[in-house]
Amino acid sequence: MKNLIEDVTCAGCYCACDDIRIKTDGQQILEVQPPCAQGQDWFERAATTDQLSPQVQGRPVSQHEAIKRAVELIQQAQAPLVTGLSQTSTDAQRAAVALADRIGATIDTGAAAVTRALQQAGEATCTLGEVRSRADLIIYWGAADLLNNTKHRQSLVSNSPEVARKIIAMGGECSQKSDFADECIQVESQRELEVIWQLRALLKGVDLTGKEPVGIAESELQLLVSQLKQCKYIVFITGPEFKQGPLAHRKLEALSLLIKEIQSERRCHSITVPAFGETKGAEHVLAWQTGYAAAVNFASGFPRYSPGEYHASRLLEQSEVDLCILTGGKPLAGLSVKAIESLRRNPSIQIGPALISEFQPDVFLPTGIAGIHFPGSMYRYDGTPLPLRGFLPTVQNSEADVLKQINKSL
Ligand code: SF4
Repeated sequence: MKNLIEDVTCAGCYCACDDIRIKTDGQQILEVQPPCAQGQDWFERAATTDQLSPQVQGRPVSQHEAIKRAVELIQQAQAPLVTGLSQTSTDAQRAAVALADRIGATIDTGAAAVTRALQQAGEATCTLGEVRSRADLIIYWGAADLLNNTKHRQSLVSNSPEVARKIIAMGGECSQKSDFADECIQVESQRELEVIWQLRALLKGVDLTGKEPVGIAESELQLLVSQLKQCKYIVFITGPEFKQGPLAHRKLEALSLLIKEIQSERRCHSITVPAFGETKGAEHVLAWQTGYAAAVNFASGFPRYSPGEYHASRLLEQSEVDLCILTGGKPLAGLSVKAIESLRRNPSIQIGPALISEFQPDVFLPTGIAGIHFPGSMYRYDGTPLPLRGFLPTVQNSEADVLKQINKSL
């Protein structure tokens, strides 16, 4: 019998579109509407999870045996790391934090630059609904993926009064005008910090006459200043290209300060988005469970936060980890190439709906998918929690249950 399920939330990326219609025959997905290539891939994963079996060193074993081996590895480890946490449910993220707490591990999401800036300067943010209904200037800075995402653009116009709006794309790749942006402003990626400081100076009325602008053409800097002065509600959306480089947290801090200053005269907010295909949310769960949004270490029996020290990639690159527990649908999200290299040399346990292809983990525990096989919740990129529905049967456990089973067996 065919079923049509309306208003399904897709957890395929940080957009978390909640208007998806799914046609099933009760056992598998027949059709996804409206189509989105990335979302289609994510829903198609449901057809492969039931064939997965638990593995130890690449050898199929029973669930009991895989959990037993995972527990042995955890008990032998002196400095375990829990990471991943992307494309998964809030429940699974909570279970991962509980396991990290129990075993004295470090837990990090790979989004340390954003959270480091937030701890220092705070963030004035808003929901997608506010952007859609009120923003008359949206600046996508290093967020070309989101700007080019059809589903995102549709979400800015659906169910809302028409707003006369200007869209500006900024970043290192803006040499050609985007089809979806009214203006494209090229900024040298190494000089973004200086560009923000120049904007702050000009908005405060500091006279920069005779000083050559750095990292941006003078005409474009002036255009940006005049747009910021003319509009009533400005939203900066910063993407993965903006957050690259060792000074990423300083850029985010500087942007927060710029936004605070703009707010003295008009509304201004920012939203940060991760790389396409990743999801946000783990930082919210970590923050309300431990007080810190990333880079948390439980080795002393209580949460300690040190973004320089407990950053997942840094720990792996410096070989300061002797076991890595990888969770979520995108377990290597946010890790550097060198960190992934280091993972090949260390024992690892992977818990998730698909086996990673980069290397063979010591233990693999397959799971079903939250949002397809199991209900739950996840966060959209603007920090709004959305419900996930479970509408297909599976023989696998949920990721949260597997993490809880390991915790219970310790
Ligand atoms: S844009 Fe993202 S959340 Fe929306 S349907 Fe595509 S993959 Fe899913």
